[in-house]
Amino acid sequence: MPELPEMEAWRRGLDGPVSATPIAKAGPAHVATLKTYDPPLSSLDGRRLTGAERRGKRLLFPTEDGELVVVVHLMTAGRLRLLRPGEKGPKQPAFRLAFEGGAQLVLTEAGSKKRAGVWLLRPDQAQAELAHLGPEALGLGAGRLGEILASESRRLHPLLRDQRVIAGIGRAWSNEILHSARLSPFAVSTQLEPDEVERLAAAIDSELARGLELRERGAGNKATYRIHDHLGDPCWRCGTPIAQVDYEEHTILYCPRCQTGGRVLKDRRLSRLLR
Ligand SMILES: [Zn+2]
Repeated sequence: MPELPEMEAWRRGLDGPVSATPIAKAGPAHVATLKTYDPPLSSLDGRRLTGAERRGKRLLFPTEDGELVVVVHLMTAGRLRLLRPGEKGPKQPAFRLAFEGGAQLVLTEAGSKKRAGVWLLRPDQAQAELAHLGPEALGLGAGRLGEILASESRRLHPLLRDQRVIAGIGRAWSNEILHSARLSPFAVSTQLEPDEVERLAAAIDSELARGLELRERGAGNKATYRIHDHLGDPCWRCGTPIAQVDYEEHTILYCPRCQTGGRVLKDRRLSRLLR
């Protein structure tokens, strides 16, 4: 799933092009992708977007007149593409905005499950839709992070991924951040020492910034992730093979030497917890 670095790189790339000319025609949209019906999609026709904004893992495209906002959430398999005038696009996009002059913004989704979503909202509705999100992960800082960690006792990996607590981090960047901070994915938020909170805050910023820089240059997953998707590969810091552990419905990757003092973590699958 695209997370903050991926979405922010997209936002920067789309900001200019989507505001260059007014929308000629909004749609078509797959019935499962478009989550709203009032106002109708056609009410975008003829309006100009101010550009691209981002909140957590979502992109927002407000209209210049301040009346409407297009919200896009790509989920796991959704992808956005900007097509130049005349460039051939997918036959059946999940969602499309055609601009005057011929450029198009298209959303596609691989596989049969349609999970990506597009919402056409008024600004007050968009605000309500996004109200549950926690503060942005990038630039959070040790002070604010310390308050968040102290507020409820949670294991770090699921806490970092919880969008209501911190917005923008998912499974991949949790793996990268916790490895960079040399903290166990199962460490308990309320039990961190002050220097560990500092390390975690620094790692959130440095890893997300590293990811953003790479994604802006068009780097793929292999060149971007160092821990995520690297099961069995040598840890870049100490050479120990990267291990994995199942936690609830997720697989977490970590270095047993850098992060857990040599301990191998035991699986805590949801199925076993329910038994
Ligand atoms: Zn290591």
